[in-house]
Amino acid sequence: MAEIQLQRVSKRFGPILAVDALSIDVRDGEFVVLLGPSGAGKTTTLRLIAGLERPDEGDVLIGGELATAVHPSDRDVAFIFQQYSLYPHLSVYDNLAFPLRSPRRRSTESEVRKRVEAVAGMLHMESKLGNMATHLSGGEMQRVAIGRALVRQPRVFLMDEPLSSLDAKLREELRFELKRLHRTIGATIIYVTHDQVEATTLADRIGILEHGRLVQMDTPREVYGNPLCLSAARRLGSPPINLLPPNLFDVRVVPAGTATVAIRPEDIVFEEAHARDVMSLTVLEYSPLRHLLILDRDGTVVVATTTIERNFSPGQAVSVSLPVRSLLYFDRDGGRIVT
Ligand code: ATP
Repeated sequence: MAEIQLQRVSKRFGPILAVDALSIDVRDGEFVVLLGPSGAGKTTTLRLIAGLERPDEGDVLIGGELATAVHPSDRDVAFIFQQYSLYPHLSVYDNLAFPLRSPRRRSTESEVRKRVEAVAGMLHMESKLGNMATHLSGGEMQRVAIGRALVRQPRVFLMDEPLSSLDAKLREELRFELKRLHRTIGATIIYVTHDQVEATTLADRIGILEHGRLVQMDTPREVYGNPLCLSAARRLGSPPINLLPPNLFDVRVVPAGTATVAIRPEDIVFEEAHARDVMSLTVLEYSPLRHLLILDRDGTVVVATTTIERNFSPGQAVSVSLPVRSLLYFDRDGGRIVT
């Protein structure tokens, strides 16, 4: 079993508290994606699990065992980075075989061959085994880097933006592969990305980090529909959620203490001008292909998406309603006010 637990783990770098009494529970075989702004502590969290950093406080457990006492190379954890680090002077075969040929493994050459061929098959790289690593495309190199981790059959994969240096098409391709691999091998994966599509398609659960703390850990659907704080609400959604001042709304609607009212662009409803409780806004911009409208209300920009076929032109007045059931309220500290 390879469940991972961080129990009130803290890590400082001089004056910076990179990870702050962080507690996370990742289940065996789970695919968890960590999302958060730059500097939130995502990479440091992975490095603490891998043993590349030592916590100042708290414990890291892998498979229920205290990992802090275990040397990084004995943790049975593979770390895959954004920059693939292959041996350029070796062939794909030898790159894949390398981890298996360490003296500690004592694998025979036929065992090595069997394992390398199996992994090359999983990654559709059979025909490239004889190529030199430097003669591969970026996507192929990253496949080999993932393969190098796979041959060792670790219990845990830590992936730090593994696809971010690839172009959009390759990223998509490898994303499908990763999801498939996860289903096949059933390993526990913790994956850091800034890409929402990757996060929402790959993750069983998304962990939102902010200032070295976990502010929410839930399924993508739950984080999207029921964010526990402003930071989680902003992390998912394209175009992003609208953050509006409370004075835009009827005072009877907004709970006391509200500093921000949030609504998803697709929850804004276009109405006839004479309907009840409508708000009038001015079109700033309309993108017909994406059905995306940028609207203005007294200097506040509101983004809406619409499925209705209508021609909106800049300067035109439109009537919308912001249904109360779709509104989320946040206090000054970004905490959710649940009504
Ligand atoms: P990004 O999305 O930009 O990669 P991140 O969420 O992965 O950010 P970390 O790399 O974990 O964030 O960094 C968290 C904080 O700790 C940042 O303020 C960073 O500058 C700091 N930090 C990380 N590693 C070190 C280090 N070795 N020495 C000093 N400060 C560090």
